[in-house]
Amino acid sequence: MAERVDAVVVGAGVVGLAVARALAQAGREVLVLERETGIGTGTSSRNSEVIHAGIYYPPGSLKARLCVQGKNALYAYAAERGIAHQRCGKLIVASTSSQLAALPGTVARAAANGVHDLVVLSRDEAKAREPALECLGAVLSPSTGIIDSHALMLSLQGDLEAAGGMVVCHSAVRGIERQGEDWLIVCGDGTRLLARTLVNSAGLHACELAGRIAALPPGSVPTPRFAKGSYFTLTGRSPFQRLIYPAPEPDQHLAGLGVHLTIDLGGQAKFGPDVQWVDRADDLLVDPARGEGFYAAVRRYWPALPDGALQPGYAGMRPKISGPGEPAADFLIQGPAQHGLPGLVNLFGIESPGLTSCLAIGEQVRETLTS
Ligand SMILES: Cc1cc2nc3c(=O)[nH]c(=O)nc-3n(C[C@H](O)[C@H](O)[C@H](O)COP(=O)(O)OP(=O)(O)OC[C@H]3O[C@@H](n4cnc5c(N)ncnc54)[C@H](O)[C@@H]3O)c2cc1C
Repeated sequence: MAERVDAVVVGAGVVGLAVARALAQAGREVLVLERETGIGTGTSSRNSEVIHAGIYYPPGSLKARLCVQGKNALYAYAAERGIAHQRCGKLIVASTSSQLAALPGTVARAAANGVHDLVVLSRDEAKAREPALECLGAVLSPSTGIIDSHALMLSLQGDLEAAGGMVVCHSAVRGIERQGEDWLIVCGDGTRLLARTLVNSAGLHACELAGRIAALPPGSVPTPRFAKGSYFTLTGRSPFQRLIYPAPEPDQHLAGLGVHLTIDLGGQAKFGPDVQWVDRADDLLVDPARGEGFYAAVRRYWPALPDGALQPGYAGMRPKISGPGEPAADFLIQGPAQHGLPGLVNLFGIESPGLTSCLAIGEQVRETLTS
């Protein structure tokens, strides 16, 4: 016998929780199924915790639109709920003449995305703000910030529960099939649920899970790719107040944003994430040997980085749906209009800026399911 619920969300990462909250606050009865022992143990706990401004993404893309909407919503939400965050700003720094020449293009792309507050700085203006910095020029993004992602997830879960929803951990979804007008969801422990609405927000495993839905049209599930990002932490105090990102090279198809410096809310500085294409989603050990590449990359903008100051930190895994050397794929929010199946939304390729965009993705999925 299967229990009946109105809506099931698979995955209690920051995006699954934001989607579940949006559905519950719209009056739906929502159950979140999470295979681990708690919320937010996947990619949502292995990222930079940066609130991105929305600068780099192709204008008109979902990443661009949802990042800018999500940033504004997130700052307002964090202020309202007392979630620790800081609008610390970031500098995008040029170390080569080609990077310098590309800075105006970065400013123009940001403006096309609705980000109009970037400020171009000369070398001296940048150094006046960050004396430890070495560069040929920079762009200041005042609306970039950092947030306590765990406090954010707890708050989203609280909202979900206040609206009558629930997260059930230790619930790995193994099978999904169409049964009449419902989705039959089968968990590893044999639990069976019938739901009118199903949102697949399984992060790194979303493609694999969707691949088990026989009713989906052939070719609608992208091939999952995994790009590991390792971090190295800095021993001692951060020499910078703001986040420091290397400027992109012109026409570069980056799988990440370059080895950058981020600061957490406790003031601890870390560098990364780099990009390493791997075969397995659970390949999360940091190889200390990668530190060599970090010293070289960081010294382009911070030549005074002392020998031995970097320690292996942690790694996160990007849930990619494009491969090495290919242009980065956009978020893929695949609803009935795309695959033709009522009540089903698959979230594929929700890599960065997924944390920043979570509230906007939640709204987008709610709209997709009500339109
Ligand atoms: C290195 C790195 C740095 C990043 N930095 C930033 C940043 O600074 N700013 C930003 O905006 N974004 C950043 N991101 C992106 C951001 O972290 C992700 O977009 C976001 O965390 C994705 O959340 P999610 O809920 O989709 O996935 P996840 O957090 O991975 O959650 C998916 C959940 O689904 C569960 N699950 C999987 N399969 C099943 C199943 N069969 N049954 C039940 N549960 C299942 C998993 O256990 C997991 O809890 C970064 C990502 C990486 C990898």
